[in-house]
Amino acid sequence: MTKLLASITSLLALQLAVHAESGIQAISPCKGPIGRSLQVLTDSAGTLSPDGAFTSQGYCSSPADVPNLGISNAAFWLRFNARNDSKESALVLHLPHPELDDVQVFIHRGGHLMKIAHTGQMVGRGLRSDIESEYAFHIPAAPGEETGVLVRLRSKKQLQVPMLLQTESDFSAAKAKRHLFIGLYVGVMLVLALYNLFVFLSTRDRSYLLYVAYIAAVGLTQLAFFGTGQFHLWGASAWLSTNASIILTLLTATAATEFMKSFLRTEVLVPRMHRAFKWFYASFAFCLATYLFIEPMIGYPLAQLISGIYAFFFLAVAIKVSRSGSRQGKYFLAAWMVFLLGTIAFVLKDVGVLPYNLITTNTMPLGSAIEGILLSFALADRINILRREKDRSQAEALAMAQENENLIREQNQILEQKVMERTAALQDSNDNLKRTQAQLVQSEKMSSLGQLTAGIAHEINNPINFISSNIGPLRRNVGEVMDAIQAYRSIPATVEAATALAAQRERDDRIGLDETITELDEIIHSMDEGARRTAEIVRGLRNFSRLDEDDLKPSDLNLGLRSTLAVLAPQYRDKVDLRIEAGELPKVECFPGKINQVFMNVMNNAAQATLARQDGRPRLVTVSTSANEHEASVRISDTGVGMSDDVKARIFEPFFTTKPVGEGTGLGLAIVYGIINEHQGCIEVESEPGVGTTFTITLPLRQARMQEQAA
Ligand code: ADP
Ligand code: MG
Repeated sequence: MTKLLASITSLLALQLAVHAESGIQAISPCKGPIGRSLQVLTDSAGTLSPDGAFTSQGYCSSPADVPNLGISNAAFWLRFNARNDSKESALVLHLPHPELDDVQVFIHRGGHLMKIAHTGQMVGRGLRSDIESEYAFHIPAAPGEETGVLVRLRSKKQLQVPMLLQTESDFSAAKAKRHLFIGLYVGVMLVLALYNLFVFLSTRDRSYLLYVAYIAAVGLTQLAFFGTGQFHLWGASAWLSTNASIILTLLTATAATEFMKSFLRTEVLVPRMHRAFKWFYASFAFCLATYLFIEPMIGYPLAQLISGIYAFFFLAVAIKVSRSGSRQGKYFLAAWMVFLLGTIAFVLKDVGVLPYNLITTNTMPLGSAIEGILLSFALADRINILRREKDRSQAEALAMAQENENLIREQNQILEQKVMERTAALQDSNDNLKRTQAQLVQSEKMSSLGQLTAGIAHEINNPINFISSNIGPLRRNVGEVMDAIQAYRSIPATVEAATALAAQRERDDRIGLDETITELDEIIHSMDEGARRTAEIVRGLRNFSRLDEDDLKPSDLNLGLRSTLAVLAPQYRDKVDLRIEAGELPKVECFPGKINQVFMNVMNNAAQATLARQDGRPRLVTVSTSANEHEASVRISDTGVGMSDDVKARIFEPFFTTKPVGEGTGLGLAIVYGIINEHQGCIEVESEPGVGTTFTITLPLRQARMQEQAA
């Protein structure tokens, strides 16, 4: 492509200026191109014979060091005299422009023209006798001698003819340098291609493969321009020889485009320019088809034109992408500029602005090699970018994983918390359930106990009433009888009455009537006492069950304790000493039935604890009461077995019991706890195994609910 670009620039710059010229110029071997000393004849039809051409009057002198003969079907004849003013036996005519279809070289000696070479891309390899991949020919001329030289050139491509006349040794030296340069170039390109091929194989990043394709295309194109391509590779085919450069050039453009698309992500960064690529592809295809199948004279300049436009379009894309801040865009821009500069330098050399030397003749391969190296750097940098991206994405993935872990941990914590809460709630409701169940059992028990005591009370009350209500009249009647007897006994003893009285008195004395009378009084007294005590028990029972009073009301706790004791006492009579040391208590607001139940449960436990002991210590349960201005306390102490700490910790649990099955339900204290709670009171336990236990129940004198209501 660049070669085409170079050609088009030259095309625009200088066309062959034609000056009529006569007389053949003699040229000595020199370093630079000999264009200005040549005479050029245009043979439009290409039909002139060598002799006709040699003697023609139509020659013109070339205005440039490198004659530019344009693109045409014409044959061109170039004429000069080679003067050997060196000491070497022959000179070398060097035509370092391998893109020639047909080259014929004649020498003029002894009045005869002699063809010494026929070569060119259209000439089969077998016929050629080139000594170099670029065209070079030995011109026989002894030192001091002059030889006429005629060269016929023909090419369908841009015909630009750098021509050098050198001594054999100068040519050899230049040739060695040239080969070194080509070797270096091929080496560099191979290294670039292979290195990036390996990178592609390991990264599988398409850009690397496209780069390799691009480097291969560029390298082959340059080989075509060096002439090395046809000399060593495809010279056997005339078709390939002539067409390799244009095909490879368009292939290079394609590879460059594909590489750029992938490397600069043009589709994303410059989407509108990206769409233009396909139009260029279409144009290239059109040019190639025209060149190959229709008319090379149209296809070739068309390809040159489009390549030129494309080169600058490419530059524009690179600029736009690098402006978007892409590092790769900047690399690409630099690489492409180097390439373009190489091409421009090449053109400037041909138009005589730059000197003709090894460097300036090779600015294009130099430019392409530097471009390749820069792009390879860019790709290497891309590895860094990829690695950085990978590092970043790895770091992101890691952070994400950590975040997930944290989230899971947090959720686990929340879950655990919830489980704990639920478990606690479950435990609570379970406890509640048990307590409710226990309360149900207990209230059932209490209600039947209440009914029982009420029944007993009634049953006992009737007969007791019989006794106690009759004691008064009995006492009065017996008194009256006694009075009568006394009066009867105080009657003085007359004879007839005296005998009967005496007998009676004798009988009275015998049966001990006096003692009987005294005893009668005692009997009545003890009946009275018995009846009184029975009545007391009955009152206690009634009081205890309190079937009629289950409202919150100020109650006398001492009374409650006494009636509880009355109910319990018969059970433990003669076994346990139950005592009440009643302090002075104000009335306490409570549910008396429930509070009595509390007393009964605790006192029952206490009495049982004393019975469980087998040593001979007195079995004593002492209930004492006291109060301050806010609350009343009931202490129930026993000299029972006491409790271990483990037992103490569990006594309020429903169904917890240490007693054998059938004896204990484990509900007593659970109910106590519920009732005391309901009364906003508290219950405390002190206990020592083997010594005894003290429960202290504290109740507020007034219930907060009532206070609130009152307020
Ligand atoms: P129960 O009397 O049916 O066993 P409670 O709830 O009334 O159920 O009592 C639970 C347990 O508390 C008893 O089994 C006993 O081990 C212990 N306990 C209660 N009061 C006393 C006490 N005064 N002395 C020793 N242990 C007691
Ligand atoms: Mg109990």
